[in-house]
Parts: sequence; structure tokens; C-alpha cells
Amino acid sequence: MPYTTYLVEKGSSHSFVAEAKPPTVTMPRIKALMTGSIPGFIDVIRNLNSPVLLEDNVVTRAKAAGKRIIFYGDDTWVKLFPKHFVEYDGTTSFIVSDYTEVDDNVTRHLDRVLKRRDWDVLILHYLGLDHIGHISGPHSPLIGRKLSEMDSIVMKIHTSLLAEERETLFPSLLVLCGDHGMSKAGGHGASSIEEVNTALVLISSAFERKPGDSRPPKHVQQTDLAATLSVGLGLPIPRSNTGSLLFPVVEGKPMREQLRFLHLNTVQLSKLLQESVPSYKRGPCTAPAQCPPCAEQQG
Ligand SMILES: [Zn+2]
Repeated sequence: MPYTTYLVEKGSSHSFVAEAKPPTVTMPRIKALMTGSIPGFIDVIRNLNSPVLLEDNVVTRAKAAGKRIIFYGDDTWVKLFPKHFVEYDGTTSFIVSDYTEVDDNVTRHLDRVLKRRDWDVLILHYLGLDHIGHISGPHSPLIGRKLSEMDSIVMKIHTSLLAEERETLFPSLLVLCGDHGMSKAGGHGASSIEEVNTALVLISSAFERKPGDSRPPKHVQQTDLAATLSVGLGLPIPRSNTGSLLFPVVEGKPMREQLRFLHLNTVQLSKLLQESVPSYKRGPCTAPAQCPPCAEQQG
């Protein structure tokens, strides 16, 4: 993926290895990414009829805040979020032998949607790479071809976002990630290193990481994305979130802002702890006026 590699090396990105908790199957992993919490094992049984996601999550919060969300790809998202998208086109993941049409069904919308300026969040869930894994494993010659196809998609989206930024002067964020990994045999569902380790790359011209910083990507939790997206979009962090804000992402910000972001995450985690552990008592907030969650609590 030469273009993605270029973005990672240039410095306008933050890369992580995000650990997905088993079961490494799509529905519970999308839930983990969007709620910041780890769903129960019951989700394995429910994975085939994906009920609507009732737990607090980033998509629901974004919609409530008036963000216009468009979705194309794996129809698990449409089942979890049936009324959240202003436009969507779901693709079934059951025809595992197909790795071309499932992705073309997503890509065919791209040129048109990238020209439009009437949306705030665009979610794409490509399936081809996963299907190639199921058909012929991670060392299949089809993998390299699929990765270069995905790299060209990253390039198309990124150049379009940059062009838009030059007009609006507002930075955008491009998040590239997998919902789960792929076992040595090409499948997934269990807890081998290859299945739980997923790539997570956040790309934005707002990032000020120094180019040439060649530290290996930090290991984080897949659940850390929800708090990071919430803070980035100015949304409340989902109530059951157990993740921590991906701190490198805000490291370039002024100290006051960094502290505010950490404060929001801490207050939410502390609330969750209070609700789940009756004996836990939080100390008083030292700056309730600057702390929206505390101000809200005090009425
Ligand atoms: Zn799969």
C-alpha cells in the first residue's frame, strides 16, 4: 500500500496496532468500535441476525448531534443502525466466494459521494480482503492485488478531502482500520495474535507528528477508537465506553486542550465505574464550570 505508507511516513497520521477482543467476528467488533465497550459472548450467537444496537454509541450520538452519515458496505452496519444513515447501500457478506462485486458495490458510489458536500461522516466497510482470506488464506496472490486496490481507494478519498479542506479550511479525519484480523489459515473468530491484531491508522492534516518519526506503532485497544472519535467530533463519549482516548492524536494540541480531552474521558469512565461498582466513590470535581459532564450533573 504505497500511498498509505507515504501518508504514514509523512507524519500527518498516527498508526496503532489495535487489539480486538475475541470473538473476532464482525458484529461484536463493530459494536466495540462504536460503543467503546466489549459486548458479551451472547453476540456470537446473535451474530447472524444482528439486532439493532441499543447501547450508547458514536453513530447514535453523531446522528443526534445532527451529523449526516452515509454508509456503504457490509450490511451488518445497516442492521445495527437501521435509522441512522441519510443514505446507505448494504452488501451481504454471505457470498464469501465473491471478492470483487462486494467491493465494487462500495466503490461505485465513491466518485459521486466525494463530490457532494452534504454529509459529515462517511463509513465504508469493504469485504473483499476478508473474503479472499476465507477462500485462499493470507498468502494468496489475490491479497496483494486487493491491498493495492484498497490503497487506491485511500488515495482517492484522501486527495478529495484535501481538496475540500483547501476551500473550507477545516481539517478532516480519515480512519483506516480492520474490524478483526485473519488467522494463519485465513479465517477468524478465535483469539490468535493474527486474528486479534488489527491495523488502525488515523490520517489528518491537523496532526503535527514530526516526519521521519519511525517509532513502531503503539499497541492499543480496539475500544479506544470510540472515545477518540467522540472527542474529535465534539460528541459525548458513549456511556458504557471503557476505552481511553488515543493520546498521541491530541499530543500536538495546547496543554489546556489536552487536559480537557483527558478530563472528559476520565469523568465518563468514572461515571461508568460509579454505576457498576456501588462501593466506588469519586472525589469532587475541581473545576465543574469547565467540565460539561459535571456542569450537566449539577444542573
Ligand atoms: Zn470473514
